Amino acid sequence: MKNYSNLKEILLSKNSFLLTTHVNPDADAIGSELAFYQILKKLGKTVRIVNHSATPYNLEFMDEDKVVEKFDEQIHKTLFDETEVCIILDLNNASRIVKMESSLRSFRGIKICIDHHQDPEPVFDLIIGGSDYCATGEIIYSFIKETNLVELDYKIAIQLYIAILTDTGSFRFERTTSAVHHIAAELLNLGVNPTKVYDQVYDQFNFSRIKLLGETLSSIELDESKQIAYMIITKNMLLKNGATEADVDGFVNYCLSIQGVKIGILFFELKDGLKISFRSKGDITVNKLASEFGGGGHINASGARLHSITIDEIKEKVVTASKKYITGE
Ligand code: 5GP
Ligand code: MN
Repeated sequence: MKNYSNLKEILLSKNSFLLTTHVNPDADAIGSELAFYQILKKLGKTVRIVNHSATPYNLEFMDEDKVVEKFDEQIHKTLFDETEVCIILDLNNASRIVKMESSLRSFRGIKICIDHHQDPEPVFDLIIGGSDYCATGEIIYSFIKETNLVELDYKIAIQLYIAILTDTGSFRFERTTSAVHHIAAELLNLGVNPTKVYDQVYDQFNFSRIKLLGETLSSIELDESKQIAYMIITKNMLLKNGATEADVDGFVNYCLSIQGVKIGILFFELKDGLKISFRSKGDITVNKLASEFGGGGHINASGARLHSITIDEIKEKVVTASKKYITGE
């Protein structure tokens, strides 16, 4: 499923483009948008990036020219009407663009999805990518290389490198192949400095994040099999430490660093309801587990958002449901 020539044709023949990504964007989401922005600018197109959520503070450095806008119903009233093509990146389910969902569904222009999740929703005119890719950034790299549509330069390379670095968990998750390392090598040859990038992405957090991490780690519990670890973050913990939602990114992975643990779960209390993050090792399909609670994602990393329910009310149910997915060795 490549469809690159169809995408190329659309990029060449249309003039106005809107790029967007999922709620609480991560570095693959932002990097993919900014790389695609560069491609379209090189082609002389009109392009805007408008997202439901603001860019997390630690990723603002990626948007040097400050081109990413946060969706505002008043300011962006005519946004979709002024656009011929809407491209959503790093998600395949329209509900994940939240406030922009209804406009996308009724959008009469061309709807394109560039993504690496499984089972895309049948709402798009064109779907590019697939779950073999380690990051949406890798799909964009592959598109540029196969079509030669634009020159791969430093401005694109830095975004793609950050996308791939973060979505492979710094080159350690399952889809980290030799091909992915070759791509990374090429991006370094274009001037990306891995030491500097790592520092910007992972070592420039607020002190409040580290304080919150300490408290979150103290909340970890194991189920009786010691194969499921779960942690909790309440609104109060966030408030007390002066932390924000963006600070929580990556915490759930600590669950999997405990010997014998195969599923990690984070229960994160939101203003209304909660968010659950699931992580797993090997062939444990936490995307299916997340879908039991209305969510989805990748085999080893998934999530769900629940409204009008508390952590206490759902915790046992989620841990019990998780047990079905633990496979013997
Ligand atoms: P995280 O736990 O880092 O927020 O999300 C991990 C992965 O789970 C994301 O990359 C995304 O694929 C998926 N995911 C997270 N939250 C949701 C959700 O509410 N709905 C769906 N369908 N997928 C989600
Ligand atoms: Mn991604």
